[in-house]
Amino acid sequence: MTWSEETFAIHGGYRRTPEGENSEAIFPTSSFAFDSAAQAAARFSGDEPGNIYSRFTNPTVRTFEQRLAAMEGGEACVGTASGMSAILSLMLGMLESGDHIVSSQSIFGTTKVLFSKYLGKLGIDTTYVPLTDYDAWAAAIRPETRMLFLETPSNPMTDVADIQRLAEIAHAHDCLLVVDNCFCTPALQQPLKLGADLVIHSATKFLDGQGRCVGGAVVGPESLVEEHVRGFLRTCGPSMSPFNAWVFFKGLETLHVRMQAHSANALALAQWLSDHPAVEQVFYPGLPSHPQHELAMRQQKAGGGLVSFRIKGGRGDAWKVVDSLEMIHITANLGDTKTLITHPATTTHSRVEPEARLAAGITDNLLRVSVGLESIEDIKADLGRGLDQIR
Ligand SMILES: *Cc1c(COP(=O)(O)O)cnc(C)c1O
Repeated sequence: MTWSEETFAIHGGYRRTPEGENSEAIFPTSSFAFDSAAQAAARFSGDEPGNIYSRFTNPTVRTFEQRLAAMEGGEACVGTASGMSAILSLMLGMLESGDHIVSSQSIFGTTKVLFSKYLGKLGIDTTYVPLTDYDAWAAAIRPETRMLFLETPSNPMTDVADIQRLAEIAHAHDCLLVVDNCFCTPALQQPLKLGADLVIHSATKFLDGQGRCVGGAVVGPESLVEEHVRGFLRTCGPSMSPFNAWVFFKGLETLHVRMQAHSANALALAQWLSDHPAVEQVFYPGLPSHPQHELAMRQQKAGGGLVSFRIKGGRGDAWKVVDSLEMIHITANLGDTKTLITHPATTTHSRVEPEARLAAGITDNLLRVSVGLESIEDIKADLGRGLDQIR
């Protein structure tokens, strides 16, 4: 099919039942019935394609998978119970004891725990490198390295890495490049088209976009995704529920317009914060002052929905801004129609050693905003109330 991504987001994976529904049906069934003993045998042997059991195939989940695969420009996709189980399914599906991962040090905290604690005890080691230090990436690769893993832009500092350059480094050493594309989504960035081998998603964030369901996905070539990732899922079972899949693919239908609107609001907020006398520094890839602004504008269609900023003051002042809010919700989640704020040093990054936290730029005066779709004037007014107090 030669559709553009915006069209795939709406029609990808659509299959009409004999009822003639316009909006996709949900199939909340754990198993599937066969016409005959012979058909059951053929399904189980793989001689006849078709559904057997919803741990590994379900028509609603398949619509989500086909739609997201088309949007990322990937051959295949596996939906999973959460973003974390997408990462777990990929790693346990593909890696063996003795294998090695090189990862950006600026990744989602729980992903770090998964790598260091749970993969670590299976004998799969991880080396962490600074996201934008390409020499460090290359130097950390060992003969047993199988994968390079990153998020870009990073959370919460919004550093941007050159995916194409990292793909070249990975492939020169026979490694796979895995990108967690949670912050940009395929509406703003398509890592597979830049040379990445696999894309991870927490569907919980922008793909849903309205904070309703937890889910995840792995996208990539059929040879890797179907055999290794779905193979793991089929046996070990962290599967996506059909109801959640339905919520997610209905979310995908509006993803392009939502990501443009999130980005427009985020850029306006970042510009307003930059001019505010109570603000010390703003981190947003869409601002010309961002250190990788040019790369970001080449690699992404827009700056995305996350803005971080340092206020002039300390932790008490940062908390004062948070506690003065009347509309913006205080939560560590992101990618919602509602604007959300978090104080990373005492929430998402509170378990990081203070020295490492400071080295990563996560100071006590840093706040992170996941910019929602409310009127930008109301978002500014809500933040302005607290900011005006610390001037
Ligand atoms: C939230 C998140 C995850 C984990 O996803 P869950 O759906 O919460 O399991 C992974 N990576 C990134 C970048 C995230 O923001």
